[in-house]
Amino acid sequence: MKPASGKPQDIATLRARVAKIRLKGSGTVQAERARRLLLVYLETAAAHAVPFEDLLRALRSGLPALRIAGAELRQNAAQPDGPLASAACAAGCAFCCILSGRDGGVIAEAEARVLHAAVAPLAGALDGRDWHPRACAALDPQSRTCRVYESRPLICRTYMSKDATACAQIAEGIPAPGAGVLGVQGLMLAVHALVRAALAKVSQVPTYSLARISAGAADGEDVATSLRAARQTPRALDEERRRFGS
Ligand code: SF4
Ligand code: SF4
Repeated sequence: MKPASGKPQDIATLRARVAKIRLKGSGTVQAERARRLLLVYLETAAAHAVPFEDLLRALRSGLPALRIAGAELRQNAAQPDGPLASAACAAGCAFCCILSGRDGGVIAEAEARVLHAAVAPLAGALDGRDWHPRACAALDPQSRTCRVYESRPLICRTYMSKDATACAQIAEGIPAPGAGVLGVQGLMLAVHALVRAALAKVSQVPTYSLARISAGAADGEDVATSLRAARQTPRALDEERRRFGS
């Protein structure tokens, strides 16, 4: 990923920078869509005279990326023949909460803080890891429902399947068709990557491990400790984008 030159001092220079960034994989439909939507977001912020420092804080936390992707997800959900209409997902079906890899998903800072705040009051109770060693700690091990449903990250909202048995296989590392993350998650990651490139040398734009944040909160860690421990290297965002083709 090549950052554009010159530090952005205001929304106009930030927009100019976003317009020039070349992300690896840029030119894909998803990456160019992410750029267009981020430019519109910044234009709207300028029209509403959002103070630049406030905008920078929001960009670092991932809020714009989440709002852009959230709007797209609502559109998907409203389509009667959209991908969500054929999902087999139901309460108590939680193979998708058995998290793969060490990190179990890449989330933005805003999501990490919301997830931690929701799980922290449940510290000390039995959690998802009492059902399966790789399950998310936010899961209820008996009902196998998410205990923080309203606070779950976008990656949880976008994972769907037409077949729960495929999810059970995937959870055990056996590839199976019919389950996966909607393109909306890739859009969020592409917007976040554009923001990170636009703010290079100005501000860091971190990502966090979903699994580590929920486990830290369930184990009674304070939010600062969990954020420090769950913070990912910059490569995690690039690898996740590649995984989702964005
Ligand atoms: S994604 Fe799979 S495991 Fe998760 S609720 Fe849907 S069908 Fe069940
Ligand atoms: S936050 Fe909730 S939905 Fe997401 S992985 Fe954890 S238990 Fe599952």
